[in-house]
Amino acid sequence: MNRLATAVRVRAATARHRGSAVRCPLCEHGFDRFKDDWNRPDALCWRCGSHERHRAQWLLFERRPQLLAGAGSLLHFSPEWCLRERLAQRPGLRYVTTDLDRSQDVDLHLDVTALELPDGAFDAVLCSHVLEHVPDDAAAMRELRRVTAPDGWCLVMVPLALDRAGTYEDPAITSPADRQREFLQADHVRLYARDIGERLDAAGFTVAVVDLHAELGPQDAARHGLLAADLIFLCRP
Ligand SMILES: [Zn+2]
Repeated sequence: MNRLATAVRVRAATARHRGSAVRCPLCEHGFDRFKDDWNRPDALCWRCGSHERHRAQWLLFERRPQLLAGAGSLLHFSPEWCLRERLAQRPGLRYVTTDLDRSQDVDLHLDVTALELPDGAFDAVLCSHVLEHVPDDAAAMRELRRVTAPDGWCLVMVPLALDRAGTYEDPAITSPADRQREFLQADHVRLYARDIGERLDAAGFTVAVVDLHAELGPQDAARHGLLAADLIFLCRP
């Protein structure tokens, strides 16, 4: 009943906001605007629930088709429904989902700091909004590199504070309330800045920073509801 009620609500909102001012590349629907999230306006797709970062990832795949075309397997950490729907349907792609905490609806339960996988196990790895929850992010980054195939890629995104000179972390800040105040969410253990690229580099990756907001330009970025802070770190072993 709950699922049915949600489906009815989503269908009604999708119809009410149908339009052409903005477009979600994931579900390929157009709207008058995106839906506000609790902390920012124009954030979510009415239909598939995509956030700015999910749309940025999908637009990257559309703009660099060789990324998915060259991948026979993809490991997705903490898979979001909107991306999962598209990736799981992709012909020829062995799509595997993993989450440490979620008990249902994922294929594997893996600790990102100690992945029970062989070296080079996946051609592609999606690790978005995970590392800010992980105390030992250096171990996680090394593991991500290890399981990425030598000619593969690993896409990393995190909440970024672009106004900060460096990543902010303090192991003394442990209470949920303090973490919420300092790191923006009660279960975040740090607030990354652009220098996450150096950490990924130190883990052995060659890192390309993709700024899709700039690449698309202000008009197209706004039409797809992208955030300037949503840089994509495209990492190769
Ligand atoms: Zn959508």
